[in-house]
Amino acid sequence: MSVDTVMSPETTTALTLARDYMAKPKQLLIGGKWMPSLAGETLESLDPATEEILCHIPAGGKEDVDAAVRAARNAFDSGPWALMSSRARGELLWKLADLIADNAEELAALETFDNGSPMAATRYMVKVGVETLRYYAGMATKIYGQSTDISSDFGEFHAYTRAEPVGVVGLITPWNAPLTVVCNKIAPALAAGCTCVIKPPEITSITVLRFGEIVQEAGFPDGVVNIVTGLGTTAGAAIAEHRDIDKISFTGSTAVGRSLVRAAAGNFKRLTLELGGKSPMIIMDDADLDAAIPGAAMAIFANSGQVCFAGSRLYVHKKVYDVVVKGVAEFSKALRLGNGFDGQTHLGPLVSQKQRERVLNYIALGLEEGGNVVTGGKACGDRGYFFEPTVLTNCKTDARVVCEEIFGPVVVAAPFDNIDELVNVANDTPYGLGAGVFTGDISTAHKIAKRLRAGNVWINCYGILDASMPFGGFRESGWGREFGPEGIDAFLEKKAVYAKL
Ligand code: NAD
Repeated sequence: MSVDTVMSPETTTALTLARDYMAKPKQLLIGGKWMPSLAGETLESLDPATEEILCHIPAGGKEDVDAAVRAARNAFDSGPWALMSSRARGELLWKLADLIADNAEELAALETFDNGSPMAATRYMVKVGVETLRYYAGMATKIYGQSTDISSDFGEFHAYTRAEPVGVVGLITPWNAPLTVVCNKIAPALAAGCTCVIKPPEITSITVLRFGEIVQEAGFPDGVVNIVTGLGTTAGAAIAEHRDIDKISFTGSTAVGRSLVRAAAGNFKRLTLELGGKSPMIIMDDADLDAAIPGAAMAIFANSGQVCFAGSRLYVHKKVYDVVVKGVAEFSKALRLGNGFDGQTHLGPLVSQKQRERVLNYIALGLEEGGNVVTGGKACGDRGYFFEPTVLTNCKTDARVVCEEIFGPVVVAAPFDNIDELVNVANDTPYGLGAGVFTGDISTAHKIAKRLRAGNVWINCYGILDASMPFGGFRESGWGREFGPEGIDAFLEKKAVYAKL
């Protein structure tokens, strides 16, 4: 682990901007005004690399959510947003994207403070957010209905459909990419004409609060975007149960996703759920191992394994199994753990003490279940929630470390003999988010891609995403898709109109 932080001049400037922002008091954004939570309670935000308190954020409750929903409802039903043309909505989104790009360094630094990811990663994630905002800015003017020649016994009709915004939406987001996930949700929601209440994760809300200021600077009318920080079990649950919210777009764990399904039954809210995963990474015996070994290592170790589609199960053809496991272990030992502001850091800390405990518990469980630690397996550093990249082998197919999402830098590796056996074992999971296959035979690659039960398959690469391609999961990895035309459809209702001629 690096001890002395080596920072570029750009990073030093960004860090100062971020510190200045964190020093200001934090409030909720409701109806265009910043205000404290009604109960006046706050939560600490900690730097996971140093365990220092960064700032306090408001702990919003049910009454704050009620006020935010009222503001969002008013903005949806009347006022400038309700009358705004799709072109004007698109222009506002584009302006928001430009302002995020202008403030990218500060936002990346805030994200690095808040969740520990290295600056190279947070800079990239801010860029992804900007691209998503621009993609959907263009789509605001491409929302179509259809006219249909209907056959009616009751006369001649002009019949057509309209695609209309679903209404007030709750956006509940996780801590592993706080700003980007908000951009992924808000861009299609606002392009569609919805208004929203955002509930960022309680441990990493800072960047989203700064985002709220930028939304105001872009000129969105009051009440279109509201932000209520606070605990999932209070502010999040209040959004889930609110009868005046028409839809929830949620990214987070499968367990909380399940509770949202139950809560949504109250008023039959629409739901988009982007949930957990336990994604297989497959290496065939004909793969280019110089690409496959680092590919498999970074599929799991990027962002210290805190990625929903992390390639956490590694299946390797038995002819190359030993070479690949050794290669992945050696690659992981060369990764530098450290403070995200250090330009030499490859991997930051885990996001919290709780997350580090969770990973430690899984390692202990893996050993109890007969697994073998090839490398890693320990927390490290004098302060901060750092954890060594870990490779486990010899785990039984029904071991909990093989079946459950750990959400840390832990991969379980196992050999396979033939493709049928491989496909069965890769699909033997309740999840279905991502999957990767490295092979020199393109025909094998496409055959396997077809048989894998996952929403995203990467061939000779891993984790590539694009605003134009749908992203989402099969089975317990979620409902619906984000990105692409599907992403905006999720914020639209179809209306059928019949006019007698
Ligand atoms: P989490 O489910 O604990 O929390 C996610 C959000 O839900 C937070 O804002 C939290 O405050 C809120 N929440 C918690 N309890 C709630 C409740 N009862 N009602 C309403 N809201 C509630 O998830 P996390 O720990 O923040 O993130 C990690 C999880 O997110 C992992 O399982 C990961 O796979 C998943 N994830 C999925 C994707 C994807 O696109 N599929 C992307 C990122 C993360």
